[in-house]
Amino acid sequence: MNKFIPFALPDIGDEEIEAVVACLRSGWITTGPETARFEKLFAEYLGGGVQAISVNSATAGMHLALEALGIGPGDEVIVPTLTFTATAEVVRYLGADAVLVDVEPDTLTISLEAFKAAVTPRTRAVMPVHYGGLPCKMDAIIDFARSRGIAIVEDAAHAFPAWYGGRLVGTLGSDATVFSFYANKTMTTGEGGMIVTSNPKIAERAKIMRIHGISRDVFDRFVSERPSWFYEVVAPGFKYNLTDMASALGIVQLGKAERFLARREAMAERYTRELRGLPLTLPADAPSGSRHAWHLYVVRLRPEAGIARDALIQQLSDHRIGTSVHYIPLHRHPYWKTRYGLVPEQFPVADAAYRAMVSLPMYTKMSDEDQGRVIDTLRGLLC
Ligand SMILES: *Cc1c(COP(=O)(O)O)cnc(C)c1O
Repeated sequence: MNKFIPFALPDIGDEEIEAVVACLRSGWITTGPETARFEKLFAEYLGGGVQAISVNSATAGMHLALEALGIGPGDEVIVPTLTFTATAEVVRYLGADAVLVDVEPDTLTISLEAFKAAVTPRTRAVMPVHYGGLPCKMDAIIDFARSRGIAIVEDAAHAFPAWYGGRLVGTLGSDATVFSFYANKTMTTGEGGMIVTSNPKIAERAKIMRIHGISRDVFDRFVSERPSWFYEVVAPGFKYNLTDMASALGIVQLGKAERFLARREAMAERYTRELRGLPLTLPADAPSGSRHAWHLYVVRLRPEAGIARDALIQQLSDHRIGTSVHYIPLHRHPYWKTRYGLVPEQFPVADAAYRAMVSLPMYTKMSDEDQGRVIDTLRGLLC
C-alpha cells in the first residue's frame, strides 16, 4: 500500500526547535525581545521603510488594520468571494458590511471591473487577496481606490514573499498588508501574522489595540525609565500579541524564505511542465517583473476531462494523495449567503472555478518522488 501524501506539512528543522527551546529556557516566553527582533528583521526583509507589527494571526491583523482605518457600522468593505472567511469576517467584527465581488477568470484574483461596479457612497475599503501567492493587479486597484478615497488592506496570507512590478508585496503602497504564519503557510510560527504598513498612524493604533488598548507594550514597561507598573489604557483593545516562542520560530523560518521559495518555484514549474496536455486549466504564472509565492497550486478540471471534481478528489484520496479546495466561495456559505441574499449567478467566475478546482499538494518537505506519484496518478485518472 502506498504511503499517504498529505496535502500540506510545515517544514520545521532542528534550528527552529533549538530556537524555541532557547526561548523557553530564557524565562521570557510571551511578547518580548524575540518578537521585537522578528518585527525588525521582517521589516528589513521587505525594505521600503515599512513597519512590521506582529500579531497572533492574520485574522487579528486584518481586524486591527481595518480598526485603525476607522471602519465601523454603516461602512462597506469590498472583498473577493474566493477567499477564506477570515477576510470578510473581520469586516463584520467592526459592524461594517462585506460586499463580495467576483474574481478574474485567469488569475482568480479580485476583478477590477467587479470592484468598480460594487462601489457605493458607503465603500470605505477594499481587501485584495493575493490568491495562491499570485499578486493582484495592484497598480490598477490602488489607482482606482485612491481616486475614490477607498482604503486598501491587502490579504497577503498566501504571498510571502511575492513581488509585483519588481517590488515585494508589503511595499506596494496600500494602507496595510497582512501576512499569515499559520501552520500550512509559506512560513510559519504555528499561529501568527504580521501587519505591514508605511503609515505611522495605522502602525501606532495597531500596536495599542493588539494589547488591550495599552499605550506602552509589555516589553517596554520593563526596559523604560518609567516605573514598571505604570501603563495607560486608551481604548478597549484586543489580545492579539505574538509570543516570543512563536517569534523565535518565525526568525528561523524567515531566514529560510528564499530557499523555501526556490523549492516551491521548482515544484510549480514541474507540475506545469508535466501536467501540460491533460484536460486541466493550470494556474497562471506571474507576469514579467512579478514573482509568484506559490503557496498553492490550484488546477481546474476542463469539461472534456469527463470526471467531476468531487470524483477526482475521491480517486486521488483512494490513491492516498491528499488534496484541498481553495475555496468554497463565501457566497456559498450559509452565513454570507443568507445575510446578503447571495446566489451563485452573481459570481459566475468564482463559482465555476470552485466547481472545477483541486489544490494539489505542494510544500517544501514534499519529495520529488511524491510529486512524481501525484503527477503519474493524475495522468492515469485523466487520460
Ligand atoms: C490563512 C488565511 C487567512 C487567515 O490567516 P490566520 O493567520 O489563520 O488568521 C486569511 N486569508 C487567507 C486568504 C488565508 O489563506
